[in-house]
Amino acid sequence: MLTLSAETARGKVADYIPQLAHVDPKQFGIAVCTPDGQLYSAGHANTPFSIQSISKVFTLTIALGKMGDGIWKHVGREPSGDPFNSIVQLEHESGKPRNPFINAGAIAVVDAIMMGHEPKETLAEILNFVRFIAQDNSICFDHKVAASEMEHRDRNASLAHFMKAFGRLRHDVDKVLGTYFHQCAIAMNCEQLARAGLFLVSDGIDKATNTRVVSAQRARRINSLMMMCGHYDGSGEFAYRVGLPGKSGVGGGILAIAPGKGSIAVWSPGLDALGNSYLGTRALEQLVQKTGWSVFGH
Ligand code: GLN
Repeated sequence: MLTLSAETARGKVADYIPQLAHVDPKQFGIAVCTPDGQLYSAGHANTPFSIQSISKVFTLTIALGKMGDGIWKHVGREPSGDPFNSIVQLEHESGKPRNPFINAGAIAVVDAIMMGHEPKETLAEILNFVRFIAQDNSICFDHKVAASEMEHRDRNASLAHFMKAFGRLRHDVDKVLGTYFHQCAIAMNCEQLARAGLFLVSDGIDKATNTRVVSAQRARRINSLMMMCGHYDGSGEFAYRVGLPGKSGVGGGILAIAPGKGSIAVWSPGLDALGNSYLGTRALEQLVQKTGWSVFGH
């Protein structure tokens, strides 16, 4: 069991998105999905939360499916060493975001996926994909969270306009942002999220349904990006503590992939200073210590 010395040991709930500030920080859930699809869970593992930046793994997967390596014209694949919403690096690299998991990168990815379509069509495509990999058609957008982000979009709008000024976005900025905020506002619980990550556990195959979702090479590459960039400027710390490909979101969720072993989703809304779940990280640290599931061994 996790031991807490004080309430502050849970971290701080994201409040720059007002709708997320209402979430009770005293919640914690964890779910592990093994390759056969079996779920093991504890705590608030059935409580839906805003997956936020974890959605960037799914949009990257869709983008790779649509345009293959062509996506790397739009976004790089190096860790940024900067916060998730940073603009500084864009100026040095002609508006090309460093990787698909920082906000600028995810905005560029969703712009690339849109391919002239309306936000509604792209969002249907994203939601269908998430429902398919999670094997759960009940997954939906939380429209209140999306609206809250749209209302307070100044920071992300700056990133988008800056990229557009370099000719890097093809669609109307507000349409791209509306799509991006909705993808972030997908609500899932730990069990659904752990299930959704299963295709990354077994070389691109969802073994529970025996369906190939992506090639083995693509699964390996997505996992590499999660390991190097999934926690922004906290990616090194996450690799040090946990040693698994992982992707965090400011809703307090983390999806971690233990290749060959299982897909793990943790959720606790309190965040550390870099915007990653405080308790979630510690829970994963304890889990790998007990199981030896880190890709680097015990
Ligand atoms: N929707 C959030 C934002 O754009 C995603 C950030 C995150 O989860 N790190 O700020």
